[in-house]
Amino acid sequence: MDRSRHFRLALVTPLLALSTTMLRAQVAPRPDADPRITALVAAVSQERLRDVATRLAGFGTRSTLSDTVSTTRGIGAARRWIHAELTRSSPRLQVSFDRHHVAQQGRITRDVDVVNVMAVLPGRSARRVYISGHYDSVNPRANAPQGGAGGDAQANRAFDHNVDAPGANDDGSGTALTMELARVFAQSGIEFDATLVFITWAGEEQGLIGSMAHATRLAADRVVVEANFNNDIIGSSLGGNGIVDGESVKLYSLGPDDSMSRSLARYIARIASVYVPSHRIRLMAREDRFGRGSDHSSFTANDFPAVVFREANENYFRQHSAEDKLEGMDFAYLAQNARVNAAAAASAALAPPAPNVVSERGQPRIGRGTTGYDAALQWGATPGAVAYRIYWRDAWTNDWEQSQVVGAVTQFVLPNVSIDDYVFGVAAIGGDGQESLVSAYVSPVRRMTEVKLVP
Ligand SMILES: [Zn+2]
Repeated sequence: MDRSRHFRLALVTPLLALSTTMLRAQVAPRPDADPRITALVAAVSQERLRDVATRLAGFGTRSTLSDTVSTTRGIGAARRWIHAELTRSSPRLQVSFDRHHVAQQGRITRDVDVVNVMAVLPGRSARRVYISGHYDSVNPRANAPQGGAGGDAQANRAFDHNVDAPGANDDGSGTALTMELARVFAQSGIEFDATLVFITWAGEEQGLIGSMAHATRLAADRVVVEANFNNDIIGSSLGGNGIVDGESVKLYSLGPDDSMSRSLARYIARIASVYVPSHRIRLMAREDRFGRGSDHSSFTANDFPAVVFREANENYFRQHSAEDKLEGMDFAYLAQNARVNAAAAASAALAPPAPNVVSERGQPRIGRGTTGYDAALQWGATPGAVAYRIYWRDAWTNDWEQSQVVGAVTQFVLPNVSIDDYVFGVAAIGGDGQESLVSAYVSPVRRMTEVKLVP
């Protein structure tokens, strides 16, 4: 037991209590909405989302192994148009092809360039917030089934990658959303603290190839990525079962409960309730739909927080077929989902980074204080933070129930709130009132010892 630390905490506790009281009297209540973000959200254009999705579907197919030479059809024409359109959107965007020469493997039946198209909006700091969708499409249904039941048609070299695969919704919707937010953020004139990356992936339909190549390189280069807002099948409100839901969106995130991906999901729901109050965020405590996936998993696989948005009620009959057309889409609904992404990404990019609540040895910096029944919290100072907000909740629930703003301190004691009964977290608050994601204190996984039995 670290007695010196407990002694130090005991000394500072009365001072902290005093400064908190003073802070409450001194700091004006945080506004419900930041007018800069309100204006940014209002700039999302339903018409432009329709125009972009229309152009994307007009390439006939955007299959990763389709034609790259034509100027009107196939993935080559599509990515050159995306690049040109992003470049045209704003001189503030740094637009590039993120090219990966991928060897033949699985559904990649020949060596091929998998090319993501990215637009970077530099912030004051290098830490990154990603917004993404995949621009490739696929149509296995027009190809004869290979290898019998359960066979993977795409793994066959005879697979025809040039058949119609308009991919209006999968994932023209996520691509249009990403491109529209690139325009809106760059044209907003807001100086963000985080660097925003708007990226459209290729190779998703072959196993998240483009995003995995990109995220693996980010990890190798030790780039700090605070969030990936991935969007895949996000533009239709009419399900294949005839049920219409244009007022909610599903948001999936990989656990456990207090992973940073879950923290990101809760953050998005909270921010959306301020800026897009008519839209309901349905938090899903799972990585994705049953047995299905998308590019956010390339980020979580590299320990970056990530979530995926999915429309409320999908039409499975249109997906991965020549029927994934514009007439199946609802651009008012896609615009609402774009506004949710815009509000939460802008908040996160304006706020300071989330505090570090883990010691150099990887242990959560939380203790029971001098009494043994307190919550004694410590965290690292966050650049740009003028205050912090402590969160806690009953250990059985999965969203924060209580919070308290504390000053520009890096430790705090909640008396008689036992760390055995509650979960705790802390967020950083910036000078303009924006709050970071919450970092939770996670109990280390218990390492079990093998029991040796007498033979
Ligand atoms: Zn998709």
